[in-house]
Amino acid sequence: MELLYASTRNGDEKATASEAILKGLASDGGLFVPTEIPALDVDLDDLAKMTYQETAYTVMHKFLTDFTEEELKNCITAAYDSKFDTEEIAPLVNADGAYYLELFHGPTIAFKDMALSILPHLLITAARKNNIQNEIVILTATSGDTGKAALSGFADVKGTRIIVFYPKNGVSPIQEKQMVTQKGANTFVVGINGNFDQAQTGVKQMFSDSDLGRALAESGYQFSSANSINIGRLVPQIVYYVYAYAKLYANGEITKGEKINFVVPTGNFGNILAAFYAKHMGLPIAKLICASNENKVLYDFFSTGVYDKNREFILTSSPSMDILISSNLERLIYRIAGDDAEKNAELMKALSTEGTYKISEAMKSELKDFYGNYTTEEKTAQVIRDLYKNTGYMIDTHTAVAAGVYDAYQSDTQDTQTKTVIVSTASPFKFTRSVMDAIDKEKYDSMTDFELVYELSRIANVTVPPAIETIRNAKVLHDTVCEPNEMEDVVKKFLKIE
Ligand SMILES: *Cc1c(COP(=O)(O)O)cnc(C)c1O
Repeated sequence: MELLYASTRNGDEKATASEAILKGLASDGGLFVPTEIPALDVDLDDLAKMTYQETAYTVMHKFLTDFTEEELKNCITAAYDSKFDTEEIAPLVNADGAYYLELFHGPTIAFKDMALSILPHLLITAARKNNIQNEIVILTATSGDTGKAALSGFADVKGTRIIVFYPKNGVSPIQEKQMVTQKGANTFVVGINGNFDQAQTGVKQMFSDSDLGRALAESGYQFSSANSINIGRLVPQIVYYVYAYAKLYANGEITKGEKINFVVPTGNFGNILAAFYAKHMGLPIAKLICASNENKVLYDFFSTGVYDKNREFILTSSPSMDILISSNLERLIYRIAGDDAEKNAELMKALSTEGTYKISEAMKSELKDFYGNYTTEEKTAQVIRDLYKNTGYMIDTHTAVAAGVYDAYQSDTQDTQTKTVIVSTASPFKFTRSVMDAIDKEKYDSMTDFELVYELSRIANVTVPPAIETIRNAKVLHDTVCEPNEMEDVVKKFLKIE
């Protein structure tokens, strides 16, 4: 049976999976959501024997029903190969009473690789299926990690171009270096003098600008999105929740059907939404624990039912979570409104005009699957330090935010029994300065970022990932910087339009 996707803002707009992947965003500005969540009707004993790639096919073919078996398997094989530094793709590590699901073994050592290594293949396959002749232009705003992961996924992929906007002063030096050294004649990287939300707003505006769309089409281009709003990003992320559960079972850590918690360090709400979908497929999940840093707009939302982005934007040591508008939350809002596009559109309108909205009591009661909390900067550093001291295991700042929230969850709820997986979204080598500051700021203050990389490797007894080694002496190939209101001009210039 074919699974269709509906816009969260207009009940009448429906698309097949491949159409939804191609479009990224629905024409009314809404997000595509599956009209129903397919059941995970596979025996756990079978899942337990599967490789990552086999698990990926098992989960993804239920969502991407207009892809043939061969097409989907080709995409999976091309994505999850030796670009990852372990055959397990997403290993689980047990440390200090919790399991860390390491999603950072891909080419850019952060979790965005899990989806962005497959998205270009899904997109090109979708274009072929829908007889698209235009060149696909990927337009992306990044808070740091998406940018590099998307660039590396799309670089030199025939029939595509990719333009990435990042906040000039809002990403780590290593993140910036990773992006501006990107090779590939079809890649463009632009720093904006603004924050991530401004970059994302600018990208969204271009997507819904029909004049720009026409100008593009006349020159043989069309936009698509690699941001986490694309269902081609969301669906591959469901896979590792199923895989982690099956691995815990295979290793005898849990019994069949035993419910476990997942703690997810959250920004745009894409990763944790994938966990929510996994739960609704039937994966035995107790709580979805949503971890925020000091930009705790989601924590406030879960506790009060009011989403309010009118607040100070705080730059933290977990920059990929420095977000005040969590785009993917719209999919949850739509769901808890009873798949009511009209109600959702009303709330999203309030968000864009007033910066805030309030959900009804009935909707709030649908949030029982979730627990939200946040970790301060000070506590984040303490978590890194304590875990390292107690176990020798080193985690990055984003993962530490999640571990800090797991602590808070345990003291808050007294639930210390439920087995819990902390989703580890970046390698500590990606945020070396913050991680080493947490260990001993005074000692490491005078070292350069690259000296710190080798010191981290030494004290944690982990080899330096190739992703870091290769950018060390790489040449800067991108140096464009613009104001938030100049983004459209920059895009036209790159594409030589007008
Ligand atoms: C993107 C990112 C997050 C946040 O994930 P969302 O899906 O946006 O909630 C957390 N940690 C790291 C390292 C990331 O790159």
